[in-house]
Amino acid sequence: MSFSFVCPTCGDTHEGMPTDHGWKLPDVVWDIPEGERSCRGKFNSDLCQLGDRFFIRCVLKLPFTEQSGYYGWGAWVELSETDFYRYVAIYDKDGSEEPTVPGAIANAMPGYSQTLGMPVMVQFQGSTSRPTVHVPSASGHPLALEQTSGIDNRRYHAILVSTGAVGGP
Ligand SMILES: [Zn+2]
Repeated sequence: MSFSFVCPTCGDTHEGMPTDHGWKLPDVVWDIPEGERSCRGKFNSDLCQLGDRFFIRCVLKLPFTEQSGYYGWGAWVELSETDFYRYVAIYDKDGSEEPTVPGAIANAMPGYSQTLGMPVMVQFQGSTSRPTVHVPSASGHPLALEQTSGIDNRRYHAILVSTGAVGGP
């Protein structure tokens, strides 16, 4: 999905900009020197285990208010061992009727205060979609508000700057 819009912040027309940004691994695993990583942890693009810690790749959706669609943060979320293996068990099945499970964000997301370790709820999806992340509104975190109210083009520009997709103002 891509679209173009005249940016209220920089005045440029942004075209074909990314509508998502993801992390290859949880920060705690990424921080391990590359040569040692695969010895100390097990991981692919959706699942990661480091010792007795378990992570899954999710998507945290922020709906656009001035276009259709959403911005997707492809963050990792740490789950309990039980919930992790439940996800593995239903990985190629429809998990959208499963109860939500608690987790914690495992990436420091640019442009936000303190997301690493932030408590969230995770909803498994159909077999072709990554689980979705819900930030409880009681957290008072900006992500919770953005998830509920959406993001306008000004905020979208700021996100694109924070991820390095466009240059600073
Ligand atoms: Zn801009």
